This record gives sequence, structure tokens and C-alpha cells, in this order.
Amino acid sequence: MTEKKKIRYCTECKREAMKFIPSVVTIGEFGLYLCEKHFIEWFEHWVEKTIEEFHMFDRDGPVLVALSGGKDSMVLWYVLNKLGYKAEGFHLNLGIGETSEQAQQKVLELGQIIGKEPFIINITKEIGASIPDIAKIFLSPACSICGRIKRYFFNRIARLQGFKVVATGHNLDDEAGSLLFNLINWNEKYLIRKYPVLKEDTKLGLPRKVKPLTLMSEDRILLYAQLNNIPFSSEPCPLGQDAKLHIYKDILNRVEPRTKGVKRNFYLRFIRKYQRLFQSLAVEKQTTMQKCQICDEPSPSQVCLVCKIKLAVQDARQKEDKNDTHH
Ligand code: SF4
Ligand code: ZN
Ligand code: ZN
Repeated sequence: MTEKKKIRYCTECKREAMKFIPSVVTIGEFGLYLCEKHFIEWFEHWVEKTIEEFHMFDRDGPVLVALSGGKDSMVLWYVLNKLGYKAEGFHLNLGIGETSEQAQQKVLELGQIIGKEPFIINITKEIGASIPDIAKIFLSPACSICGRIKRYFFNRIARLQGFKVVATGHNLDDEAGSLLFNLINWNEKYLIRKYPVLKEDTKLGLPRKVKPLTLMSEDRILLYAQLNNIPFSSEPCPLGQDAKLHIYKDILNRVEPRTKGVKRNFYLRFIRKYQRLFQSLAVEKQTTMQKCQICDEPSPSQVCLVCKIKLAVQDARQKEDKNDTHH
């Protein structure tokens, strides 16, 4: 049976739609068909609306965008600047071979397009070892160490450079997928914090964390990047991704074509309505934070994780040197 292909016209500019027909985008949950121009407008409108609805930041204060070099964070930096926000970029070179070199290159390219120089920190220079080397020294999975090191540097750069808000490129697929995972497993600890804004802690000097692309699906972010020629790295990290999260993202994407907008509704209703219930379960944090004696960053112990890593790396290097001289 051959299915007759329907010709779609842009909902916004019907008359002009002819020339855009091959690339009219379907926004199923809103019953919209959009040409390239109106898709871009629609995308930017929703990013702005999300920022406003969740009181993320306004146009006066500077925002630091954490750039991995992938499509989501790169689109975020680009679109925030286009919308007139004071968004600066920050990239952490993780020292994961070619992947990290390519990511940094793309970040610099986008900086040139936007006309801004990103802050760049190289972990190998800063700590004395790359993420793969640190994981080897600590005999632990790269991702858990990597995640904590990233958080440390985002907080630190924000504090040292005077940013009160840090923005990340988490998209709807990430957020809805992890919500499903955490609900199925009743991970209260995560559900309490599952919100597109994490409040700042002025006492400890921790910035507010926000996710302005939280309502944008991955495929729409990719399309926005392509239509605007935004450079990004598509190399996946060779050290692995969260396979569990992938399964839950996949489940939602399978349901989506049958129930248009299920992914968005599932996540949006949670953060608009049900998240409050989980928040009310929160008990005061038991761990008291203090300032690291070496670097002054917030830490649950006298010396923070990154300073401990630095010391362990120095130790491992000294041992290596000794072994070399004995041979
Ligand atoms: Fe870091 Fe793991 Fe992400 Fe690679 S996959 S960048 S190691 S968190
Ligand atoms: Zn149009
Ligand atoms: Zn420290």
C-alpha cells in the first residue's frame, strides 16, 4: 500500500510556504507546521518563555554557559546571545585525546561567530593529569570523577569571575528520560532536586544552575543548529555515556509518535505541579559544607575532592619518577 504524501504548508506564512515545502517541520504537540524561518522564531520564543516562566535570569545579569562543544550547549550559547542576554562561554578541556581537542576547536569557532572569547580551562594543566589518567590513578569509573570535576570548575570559574548564574544545555530528552528513570526507581533524593533551576547558595558562594533548553527536544536543537550553521562536535566521548539513561530516553521516543507531546507533557506537568510534592519531602541536609583549606571552594571535608585528586596525582607522578631513576 502506498501512502499518499501530504504537502504541508507553514502555519504562519501559508502563502510563502511554497519554497519551504521540502523542509516544513512538524511540531506535533501544537499542531503546527513551520517553515525554516518560522521554526527558528518558534524555537527562540520557547527558549525565552522557559527562561521567564522559571525565573532563570534576566537581561541585566551575566550568565555563564557551560560548553561541552556538543550541539545542546553550543545552541544555548548562540541563542542566548541572539536573544540579547549577557551570556559568556566556559569550556573545560578534559584531556580525552582527539575528542577534547575537537570540542575545544568548535567552542573557539563559535566564539568567533558570536564575537566573544570563551573562558577555557585545561584539566591536564590544572590538575596535572587528564580525565582518563585520573580515573586510572583512582581506579574508579571515569564518568563519576569527570562529573564531579566539571561541577567543581563551573562553580569555581563562576565565583572567581563574578557570575551568579551558570546555564547548561540539558534538553527535554535528557530531562524527561532521567525523570522516568528516577520515578520508576523512586529515587526521592533526585526527584527533590529535579527542577530546571537549582537555587544559588550565597553563603557558600555557589551559583544558581539553570537549564533553559529543558523544554526543547534533541532533534529540534539539532535542526536549529543546522539551520543557523552553528559549529559543534558530534564525536561521542569514548569513555562511555550513561547507558541506563539511554534506555529511558528511547522508551519515551517510541511512545512519542503515538501520543504526540507525551515527552513534553510528562516532564512539564511534573515540574509545574508534582515536583512540589517531592520538595516537601526534603529534610534538612545532614552534611554540613565547609570551605576547602587549600582552594576555598565548598567541600564536605577539610580538603575538597579536586585538591585531593591534585595531591594524589603529584604522589603518583613522584612514584613514577622514582621508579624511572631506579631502572
Ligand atoms: Fe566525562 Fe563520562 Fe561525559 Fe566522557 S562520558 S565527558 S568521561 S562524564
Ligand atoms: Zn513560515
Ligand atoms: Zn580544594
